[in-house]
Amino acid sequence: MVIKPKVRGFICTTAHPQGCKAIVKEQIDHVKAQGHTENSPKKVLVIGASMGYGLATRISAAYSGGAATIGVIFDKPASGNRTATAGWYNTAAFEQFAAEDGLYAKTINGDAYSREIKEKTIELIKKDLGKVDCVVYSLAAPRRTTADGVQYTSVLKTVGQPYTNKTINLKDNTVNDITVEPATEEEITATVKVMGGEDWKDWIDALKAADAIEDNAVTVAYSYIGPDITHPMYADGSIGKAKDHLFETAKELTKNGGVRAYISVNKALVTQSSAAIPIVPLYISILYKVMKEKGVHEGCIEQMCRMWNEKLFAGVTDDEGRIRMDDLEMQDDVQSEVHKLWTEIATDNLDTHADLEGYHTDFYRLFGFGADGVDYDEDTDQNVTIPSLM
Ligand code: NAD
Repeated sequence: MVIKPKVRGFICTTAHPQGCKAIVKEQIDHVKAQGHTENSPKKVLVIGASMGYGLATRISAAYSGGAATIGVIFDKPASGNRTATAGWYNTAAFEQFAAEDGLYAKTINGDAYSREIKEKTIELIKKDLGKVDCVVYSLAAPRRTTADGVQYTSVLKTVGQPYTNKTINLKDNTVNDITVEPATEEEITATVKVMGGEDWKDWIDALKAADAIEDNAVTVAYSYIGPDITHPMYADGSIGKAKDHLFETAKELTKNGGVRAYISVNKALVTQSSAAIPIVPLYISILYKVMKEKGVHEGCIEQMCRMWNEKLFAGVTDDEGRIRMDDLEMQDDVQSEVHKLWTEIATDNLDTHADLEGYHTDFYRLFGFGADGVDYDEDTDQNVTIPSLM
């Protein structure tokens, strides 16, 4: 069928298989162009491997370090006239390219928070790889059901006070004020349950208990800090509480021994999850403009390839032990320019003050639309299989 984007709210309900494949290939080509990294892990588990930072890390592990990768994803195949999710097409493409390049790549599809998926993953590790030497934890999820059957839903709210600032309505490209209300204690607890470190620790404990992880393996999870304007919404908001917990978990995992656990603080980028945060998309479109003009803009693949090649295994951290992939975003010259544009920005100067085109382009590319060399008017088969799930 001919597949066109259908955007509802913050997501696109269709995805394009050939487009996703072309964009995965672009990412692989980027990593290949950076050259090979020696001495990086060779058996890598990526939890949340189908989109955004997780996918980019999987591609970096495989194509920079030559690693065998197992990806845990939570995606849907096509059914009837519905396309598969973008993560499904990305994973199918990644496995196909990996096979052509002689790289081991297998996938487990299901809820990474569940015990069942942990057990299935561990079974696969033991059968095919024996043990993993690196675990990447890159989940961004709206909810989690814990082992006792309780469902927790995360919220993107402030803590303590309401916060009013500018936001962009991406449907009609207008800038308006938005007031974000504070989360209740219950909502904060739920957000920490979903996006904090508890499940990351469950994964590491389960891998250790099954003797499926090498001694001294590296594990990494992702966080964000950002500038003052985003703090009430992010670093000091409900999601920030969860990220604080993630950071404490990293320290605990390292203290418990057996693994070296890191938090990598990544750059703000358009992904399926960041699109849903109030205020942040406007900040991102200004940031894109400034960083592109300064020639220091990076996407997920540039970020994760740089982390893999230069920082994670060399232990390059800040004073608190965090890997700072937001180093370029947080440079003074970048932030002072962003701040100036932020104070001035309004609907009538969006074109000169923000890279809205870049924002929209990246958003559509998440779902495989807008890739070079793909004819979007052509009939395409939406039914694509992930080789290891056949
Ligand atoms: P994303 O939405 O692109 O990717 C999230 C991945 O998690 C997807 O592959 C999704 O399918 C998977 N997933 C969600 N629920 C799952 C489940 N129950 N089981 C298995 N897989 C599941 O998001 P992202 O932006 O790449 O976020 C990844 C991490 O990076 C998050 O911790 C996020 O906070 C962090 N981060 C993001 C940004 C940003 O600007 N996007 C910046 C810094 C840090």
